[in-house]
Amino acid sequence: MSDVWGDTHDDPKMTRRDLLAVAAATGIASWSGSAWAADPPQPGMAPPPNAITPADALKRLMEGNERYVKNELKERDFSAGRAARAQAQYPFAAILSCADSRVAPELAFDEGPGQLFVMRVAGNFVNPDLLASLEYSVQFLGVPFIMVLGHTKCGAVDAAIKVLKSKAVLPGHLPGLVGAIKPAVIAAEKTRSGDLLDNAIAENVRGQVSRLKAAPPIVQKFYTDKKINIAGGVYDLATGKIALV
Ligand SMILES: [Zn+2]
Repeated sequence: MSDVWGDTHDDPKMTRRDLLAVAAATGIASWSGSAWAADPPQPGMAPPPNAITPADALKRLMEGNERYVKNELKERDFSAGRAARAQAQYPFAAILSCADSRVAPELAFDEGPGQLFVMRVAGNFVNPDLLASLEYSVQFLGVPFIMVLGHTKCGAVDAAIKVLKSKAVLPGHLPGLVGAIKPAVIAAEKTRSGDLLDNAIAENVRGQVSRLKAAPPIVQKFYTDKKINIAGGVYDLATGKIALV
């Protein structure tokens, strides 16, 4: 699959029709509908609505968060535009968030359906499946910005600290999840000031951002070509405010 995606991106001779043929053959088209927002606009065609700069995407996210913090959310008619959204999606940011029920990215950024491509996993870490979703959003939906979103009092990071300190053994598949967060705890333990949990949460976000920036073949290339930017934020459960880290 990655070869197919990589080839379509790297070959400038590939036309939109070729891309659609590849997509149909791989089943990607049925997932995305007819939206190929990453295609350069054809002559006479308006650019897709998410063709904004990474800096503008970040600005829009942070302005939405300001409205959320002040409890001044935009009024929304959720049924308006539903039929149009069934034809295509043009998200302007991808968010890799923790699964914590108290963190809701669409609310925290005051965005409606179709605007954010959201992936969630407890501890907001990158694994191959989530990376594939991000690759899809960047290459095929034209997303210009990725944010890794951690949050204060994260139970997954707290569990990783407890496992490291007490050698506790967690049940089920949880050891794998905690194992993904452990490097952030080990890095945070070297920081002498501040709270270990807060430091580990920020380290985890920064670590995942670094991993994404260096994740071949798609995300790394889009990042180094400056087609996208990647940043990390921590959502404060008590205030709703997101601080970039
Ligand atoms: Zn969490």
